[in-house]
Amino acid sequence: MPVAKRVDAIPIAQYGGRHAVTMLAGGGIGPELMNYVKQVFRVGGVPVDFEDVQMNPKSESNEDLEYAITSIRRNGVAIKGNIETGSMNRAVISRNVALRNELDLYVNVLHCKSYPGIPTRQKGVDILIVRQNTEGEYAMLEHESVTGVIESMKVVTQENSERVARYAFEYAKKQGRKKVTTIHKANIMKLSDGLFLETSRQVAKDYPNIEHNDMIIDNCCMQLVSNPHQFDVMIMTNLYGTIVSNVVCGIVGGAGLLSGKNYGDHYAVFEPGTRNTGTAIAGKNIANPIAMLNAAVDMLDHLGHVHHAKIITDAIDKTVNEDRIHTPDLGGTASSTDVVENILKHVQKATKTIYWI
Ligand code: ATP
Repeated sequence: MPVAKRVDAIPIAQYGGRHAVTMLAGGGIGPELMNYVKQVFRVGGVPVDFEDVQMNPKSESNEDLEYAITSIRRNGVAIKGNIETGSMNRAVISRNVALRNELDLYVNVLHCKSYPGIPTRQKGVDILIVRQNTEGEYAMLEHESVTGVIESMKVVTQENSERVARYAFEYAKKQGRKKVTTIHKANIMKLSDGLFLETSRQVAKDYPNIEHNDMIIDNCCMQLVSNPHQFDVMIMTNLYGTIVSNVVCGIVGGAGLLSGKNYGDHYAVFEPGTRNTGTAIAGKNIANPIAMLNAAVDMLDHLGHVHHAKIITDAIDKTVNEDRIHTPDLGGTASSTDVVENILKHVQKATKTIYWI
């Protein structure tokens, strides 16, 4: 079996020690969450400059999309909110899916770790979800073959299945993880999910010290709710990935906490893990800012700004676990700005800066 190789040929944009990063705020709560990121970066003295790019999700023209892709290609890295795809017009394509496909961001990584300060039914969850991010049911290949009959293609390739499996096993090896579980429905989709499962089994042979098993997606959802601790690293195709990610985010506290990372061989895009727009709560000062701040921390780690990443992570952890300043989605009464101000206080202490808000 050929080995998928990472190619690191394209340098990340960096000018005078500062990094340039594309910022796609998206719709709903995206713009307010991005303002919190900018505030925290300013107080923390983070050497990153954002290139704000606006998208128009209702447009039939793809000019905005092309500009965003060019910007990410130039900068190498982006942080994004969800870009709503409200339109049922067939000519309007999902900007989120198109970005991932065009930039070949073939893997999505979601680290689902419980915060001890958040009251949840399941404690101590620590699962890594590795999801194929560009094909499967998201191939966007649908057509009406005859009136009243729609066909939708689910595309699974050996190459992409292998890249995802290889990423998961390499990550498991580096992080000292013990087990990788492939999630599938190969008993029904024998060819497509069968290929994904078989490929992960082949890759697993190269990692004899890591246990490999598999589980059918429906059983997986039940097992996640009743006993999430049995899972360590999970790999799956695209649609199962979005469902399982939302289930696990729900288990550890909801949509407002965790971040997700999208990687290809050349580019990286960071965003909240459940990819919600949050239109209904926009402008009310109640959206949880943590997921987007965690996405910003992931971005800093990726760029090598580990010192700043650590300062912000510590400030988030203290706010959530010790000070217990929680927005309503976590059962608290704090506003978004209460949470951000508390985080700024800790960042300020760590960096010894004076800030104005
Ligand atoms: P809409 O996007 O129009 O609000 P939706 O049902 O698709 O509708 P999502 O955006 O997908 O909602 O979000 C799912 C749920 O998660 C919603 O209840 C939303 O309010 C909540 N949610 C999403 N992000 C956050 C956040 N950062 N803080 C608090 N709640 C959030």
